[in-house]
Amino acid sequence: MKLGRISLLRIEKGEPADIDLLNYVKENLEKRFHLPCEIADSVVEVPVSAYNPKRKQYEGEIFLKIIRGYSRQKKRITLGVTKVDLYTDPLNFIFGLAQCPGNSAVISLCRLYPSFYFLPYDEDLFRRRTLTEAVHELGHCMGLRHCKLRRCAMAFSNSIEDTDYKQPDFCDNCRKKLDRIME
Ligand SMILES: [Zn+2]
Ligand SMILES: [Zn+2]
Repeated sequence: MKLGRISLLRIEKGEPADIDLLNYVKENLEKRFHLPCEIADSVVEVPVSAYNPKRKQYEGEIFLKIIRGYSRQKKRITLGVTKVDLYTDPLNFIFGLAQCPGNSAVISLCRLYPSFYFLPYDEDLFRRRTLTEAVHELGHCMGLRHCKLRRCAMAFSNSIEDTDYKQPDFCDNCRKKLDRIME
């Protein structure tokens, strides 16, 4: 089932992600995927069951399950956005997770904040990182796999350096694949 609309769903336990950031992501996703994008009015509570106290992190798959439910109900491709730190075995952490292909994805802002690396806040950098990871995960939803070109949004990120090296855009090859998929 391919859905023709993207929804950004905030999944938070405290302050939801800043609306200006989400508007920026929304506008830029529309340009890249040529689909209408919206910010869901409702904010979903972080699932307590996803918390792993040993790791002090949240299991990404449980987030994906909740997002899948929302996606089915609202008939939208849904990108969850959360500030909590996510992981999925065997990885130490993840910037995001997606069904490939599918209608559900999630990104964590936790490790995109410069403050996570004890660096001063940098709005442009933080926005660019968020968009890059959003494009990456939604690319997976559309059926794109990891790309070997390190500049491409579909390159795998093992570290924030990898994310910063990437562009929030697809390489020519991934762009072509996406255009073919979206025809
Ligand atoms: Zn990926
Ligand atoms: Zn590529």
